[in-house]
Amino acid sequence: MRALAHAVLAPALATALVTALAGGRADAQGSARASVAPLAREILADMVQSRTTEVGSTTPLAESLAERFRAAGFAAEDVMLLSETDRNRNLVVRVRGRDRSLPPRILGAHLDVVGVEPTLWTTDPWKLTERDGLLYGRGVLDDKGPAAALSAAFIDLKRSGTVPARDLLLLLTASEENGPYNGVQYLVANRPDLTRGEFVIIADAGGGELAGGKRIAFGVQAAEKVYADFTLTARGPGGHSSIPDGRSPIDRLATAIDHLSHYTFPVNVNPVARAFMEKRAPLTPGPDGAAMAALARDPNDADAIRRLSSSPVRNALLRTTCITTLLKGGTAPNAIPAEATANVNCRIIPGESPDTVLARIRRAIDSPDIEISVAYAAVPSPPSVMPPALARALDETLAEVYGVMPVIPYMEMGATDGLFLRNAGQQVLGIIGLFVDDEYSRTMHANDERVPAAAYDQMVEFTRRLVVRLSR
Ligand SMILES: [Zn+2]
Repeated sequence: MRALAHAVLAPALATALVTALAGGRADAQGSARASVAPLAREILADMVQSRTTEVGSTTPLAESLAERFRAAGFAAEDVMLLSETDRNRNLVVRVRGRDRSLPPRILGAHLDVVGVEPTLWTTDPWKLTERDGLLYGRGVLDDKGPAAALSAAFIDLKRSGTVPARDLLLLLTASEENGPYNGVQYLVANRPDLTRGEFVIIADAGGGELAGGKRIAFGVQAAEKVYADFTLTARGPGGHSSIPDGRSPIDRLATAIDHLSHYTFPVNVNPVARAFMEKRAPLTPGPDGAAMAALARDPNDADAIRRLSSSPVRNALLRTTCITTLLKGGTAPNAIPAEATANVNCRIIPGESPDTVLARIRRAIDSPDIEISVAYAAVPSPPSVMPPALARALDETLAEVYGVMPVIPYMEMGATDGLFLRNAGQQVLGIIGLFVDDEYSRTMHANDERVPAAAYDQMVEFTRRLVVRLSR
C-alpha cells in the first residue's frame, strides 16, 4: 500500500465527523445504520495478533475470519478457503446477487504483513494498541486496516439483508509482500471465476491527499510500472593478474554500465500519466504545475519535459527507467576473473514492449561482446480505465463522507497485486478511503506502524458506504 497522503488531518474536525457518523446519520439509501467502526476495530485486533509474516502463515487468520463470516450468516459455500498448500490460505467471501449472470464486482486486500524488529517498537507490534489517539500494530495501514474495513462492510451488508444487483466478492489474500508464491496469482490461475469481474478494487493503494489539514484530492491507482530485471555478462579467458592480456571482464562490464547510466529512455506519457498531470496541475504550485499542464496538452513539449525530468519522482512518471542494482565478479585479489555480471532493474511504462526496452539497453551499452539476458521477465500490466459506475459511486461516497474533491487516477512507480489481475485482463483500481499525513503513511513496513484512530474510523465508514453503493 502506498497512500498519496500529505498533511495532518485536523483532529477536531475528524472527531466531529466520526461522532456524527457513529450517531447513525442516514446513509444514501435513507436507512440509518449504526457505525461499523467497532466491528472493524474488533476484526482488526484479531488480524493484528495473527503473525502472518513470511515465516508465519495466513491460514489461522483466514480460518478464524471464515468462522466470523459464517457466524454473520454467510452460507458455507460462499466462504472459501483456497490455496495450493495448507500454508498461506486465501479467503474468498461472496455475497450472492439477484442476477448471477452479471460479472461480479470484486474487492480485495492482503492478509500477510512484513516482519517486525520488536525491540524498535514502543508498543507490542502483534497487539492492536490505541495510544494518544493513534492505532498501533503491524498491518494497521498495510494492509490489515483496509482488509478489516472491507470485512466489516461485507458483514454489515449481509446483516442488513441487502441482496446486491450482482455478486460481490471479497478476496483476502496471502503472500503479497513475500514471493515467490502469491495468493492473487494462485486465484487467477486456479479460480478465474473468482477473479474475473466487472472491475476489481484493490484496497492496497490510492488514498486521500491533505494540504495544510485540508482534503484536496483523492488518488486512485489505475496503472503500475512493469518490473523487469536483465543480466549483463562479460566473459574472458581469465588468468593470473600479473600478466594482464587486454581489458578484463570487469573492465568491459564497467564501461557498459557507465554507458547505460548516461542513457535516458524516451518520454512515453501514457493515458493514465496524461490524465494525472491534467488533474494534478491545478493543485501543484509553481513551475512544476505549469509544466504538468503543458505536458497534458502536448506530450512533446520539450521545456515541460526538461522541467519535470529534473525531479526523480516526476521523471519516473514520464519514462521507463533502468538502473544497475547488483554487481558480481572476481574470486581472488590476484586472479583475472573469467566472468563478471551486473543486474539491471527496469521499471517499464505500462504498454511499452519489454523487447523494445531490451533493444534500447543493447544500443545504449554499445558493447557487442556483453551478453544481455532476461533475469526476471516483465509481466505486462496494461493501464486500467475507471468504469463509470465506480467513478459515480466514488464521487458520491467522497462527497458524503469527506466532501467534494477531484478524483485523480495515477500510475504507481512500484508494483502491487493489481499486476496479476491487470495481466489477466481485469480493470483494477487501487482505492483506500483514508486521509493521513505522510508521517503516518511512512510507517508502513517500518517500526511503530500507526494510523490516527479517527481517520481509521472514517475510512471504515467510507468503505461501508462505498460497498453499499456498489451493491446497487
Ligand atoms: Zn500492501
